[in-house]
Amino acid sequence: MSFSIDQQRLGRTFELLASIDSPSRYEAEVAKFVASELEGLGWTVVEDSSMTSTGSQCGNLVAKARDDGGSTLFFNAHLDTVEPGRGVEVVFENGVFRSKGNTILGGDDKAAVAIMLEVARVLKERGAASLPVEFLFTVCEEIGLLGAKALDTSLLDSRAGYALDSTDPDTIINQAPEAIRFKVTVKGKAAHAGLHPEEGVNAVIVAAKALARLELGRLDEDTTANIGVISGGEATNIVPESVVIEGEARSHNVERLREVQDSILGTFHRVVMEERERALKQGPLPSVETEVRDDYPAMSIPPSHALVVTALDAGKALRRELRVERTGGGSDANILNGKGLECVIMGIGMRDVHTVNEYIALEDMVKTAKLMMEIIERW
Ligand SMILES: [Zn+2]
Repeated sequence: MSFSIDQQRLGRTFELLASIDSPSRYEAEVAKFVASELEGLGWTVVEDSSMTSTGSQCGNLVAKARDDGGSTLFFNAHLDTVEPGRGVEVVFENGVFRSKGNTILGGDDKAAVAIMLEVARVLKERGAASLPVEFLFTVCEEIGLLGAKALDTSLLDSRAGYALDSTDPDTIINQAPEAIRFKVTVKGKAAHAGLHPEEGVNAVIVAAKALARLELGRLDEDTTANIGVISGGEATNIVPESVVIEGEARSHNVERLREVQDSILGTFHRVVMEERERALKQGPLPSVETEVRDDYPAMSIPPSHALVVTALDAGKALRRELRVERTGGGSDANILNGKGLECVIMGIGMRDVHTVNEYIALEDMVKTAKLMMEIIERW
């Protein structure tokens, strides 16, 4: 079958999308553009009511090539970008898109949006506009996968799909870790550091004793842990009353994640107990409070799953050897899988994302669009 991906049109669409500001929660204008493009191709577009929980200007968009409820395959991209992402000026040189260097480019994930729009146009041109394909565009991905978390999945007909939101265009990602975030508050007692230091309990020192015992970084091939933020203390002349420590842990192995969580939080409790025993005779005692929040669930699609097999076969048909890999990052795909919308993640060619050096080659976007066409054809 012959494809007719229009490279120039794809590039122009991407430039246009990149020039519309859409930092998380401010996706309305880009959503409007996407909806009107697809409606112009005869698609049905529905916006959900996730704004009430995401705080965004608009909801997630679900767009269907046909509206008879018969869609069997979805593709997903997110509409929001990270900061600095306002007033992006796109530079196109030697086949590569970059920003002027003062903002991100927003190829994460607007390159995917542009690819999906181009595929919708080609389907229409080929008279195949009513294929059983639907698109899911989410909001607020970059600030905690909020759009996907608030998605009403009954708006989609299909239960399997591809999320276009990774870097290497020759890679399909089928596994991603589960993650938790935690917050530990160590409380001591404030006192004047010069006049009555003995009346105080230094929360920073107690926390430091616990921190020094933690195992962090890459704990095994499935598991990582990090302390990312420490805040506390008021002034150099006050014994600090409290310190707040925030961190995260991720693992592909759910039991191991619980172990790491118990080990980290348990260490704080143990150290505070030891300090309390030591301080018992002298008066004020430290205490600790811990909080854990599930960030996102793990995803694991077996290599034998139709989503993986179809992508690999589609790659072969295009003389490409795709790799199946796992990632250490979390994305909408974790949430969608958790909600019963099985999906794997496709790379689209974006590089150095979340930095002002972000770039993407038009050729990689074309490659991804062709792969997507081939997958639709085979599904
Ligand atoms: Zn992304």
